[in-house]
Amino acid sequence: MFLAPPGEVLTALELLSRRGFEAYLVGGCVRDAVLGREPDDYDIATDAVPEEIKRVFSGYQTAEIGIRHGTLTVVMNGRPIELTSYRRDGVYSDGRHPDRVSFTKSLEEDLIRRDFTVNAMAWRPDGGLVDPSGGRNDCKNKLIRAVGEPGERFREDALRILRALRFAGQLGFEIERNTHQAMMREAAGLSRVSAERVAKELNRTLIGDFAANALRAYPEVLVLALPELKPLLRPEKTNDGIWEQTLIPLEGTPKDPALRWAALLLFCGKPQSTSGGPVPPADSQECSVTLAESILRRLRQPRMLTEQVITLIRHHEQRIDPANLRLWLSSLGPETAKKLLLLKRAGVSAKEPGDTRRIEQLDSLYMEAVRLLDEGLCLSVRDLQVKGDDLLAMGYQRNRRLGQALDELLRQVLTGELENRRDALLKAAESLLPID
Ligand code: ATP
Ligand code: MG
Repeated sequence: MFLAPPGEVLTALELLSRRGFEAYLVGGCVRDAVLGREPDDYDIATDAVPEEIKRVFSGYQTAEIGIRHGTLTVVMNGRPIELTSYRRDGVYSDGRHPDRVSFTKSLEEDLIRRDFTVNAMAWRPDGGLVDPSGGRNDCKNKLIRAVGEPGERFREDALRILRALRFAGQLGFEIERNTHQAMMREAAGLSRVSAERVAKELNRTLIGDFAANALRAYPEVLVLALPELKPLLRPEKTNDGIWEQTLIPLEGTPKDPALRWAALLLFCGKPQSTSGGPVPPADSQECSVTLAESILRRLRQPRMLTEQVITLIRHHEQRIDPANLRLWLSSLGPETAKKLLLLKRAGVSAKEPGDTRRIEQLDSLYMEAVRLLDEGLCLSVRDLQVKGDDLLAMGYQRNRRLGQALDELLRQVLTGELENRRDALLKAAESLLPID
């Protein structure tokens, strides 16, 4: 394994050990290093208690958000580093939070309270790897395995059930059999986990490098959190293979939460809408929109994300071509419209993998959209080279018609009938002037 932490992280480790404390890198960064992946962030665990950590880093900017659980964030050279006192978790009587966290001097105790063996390793430059649960071996075998007795671990914190799926989607690992069985057995505990924590793990699952593989292998785990999707998993014959139709586009979209959620929920309303016989595609789509919205609301996802996802689902079957591209960019907003192109592209690769012509068209539309936006394309009435005041001076009244005229000017600019130039716009506005 190779771990070369940034200088600030090494300094933090050293500051602690110079004061006589033990300090190790732990969790995700050690796992990533063992796997040869670039760690996202570096977490340090130490036998210093929070007050002692604070004293060691008194000369630095710190944030105490997690201090109740023993975590202090130190900012060194602009890099936030999380320092956590070795903990042994107490009893989880609510299945959510340990009733009490107690600190310990034992690194091993801190490691065995962690969720999965691959996350329960520690490393420091002069101490090498500490791996009491065989995490390194599970990394080699690509296995997510609970530390200790799996049932007990999922009873302590049912969120770990979804974390297992998340790591499967992030790392491309399998879930070890006993761990998987315990997850399914302890599934009821998930009802006590807050929507926010569930949403956070699902979001990370969906943007994982191996998201589709994990959802293909463990759909039964996903539907523990999203029971609304259960009908999509019915046996292929009665269901047109909807689950696979969902996963292929999901695989083909970039790792963006809105795109991945849209792909996941694209057909979620189909079983419901077709259960009473064949329905027009538009109705099935509206069912998907409604169901998607209620799922995302229930998970308390940010409104921006929810709105983007339902817009993508609602419009994914509509035609976008060079003639109406500007209209789409304006009506959905540039970010959502670009994502819609990406979603459509992923859908074409899934439905008609041979249709290279449509894929090329969508690619060139995407490039054209980027170019137009770079050029500062006029997207809204505010970007027009005439203002309401110009129209008022021309004889318009301050009423609904004024707004309608500006909208019409924008429409003509977006379809290319009119240039966004003041003289051209004034002339066009003149011809739109109501006669009465
Ligand atoms: P990533 O690099 O994707 O953030 P990570 O391993 O750092 O992965 P986090 O959710 O940031 O994942 O958690 C940090 C570490 O804290 C984990 O590696 C694990 O050791 C421990 N941990 C986090 N959440 C739990 C939990 N619910 N139960 C037990 N241990 C946990
Ligand atoms: Mg992390």
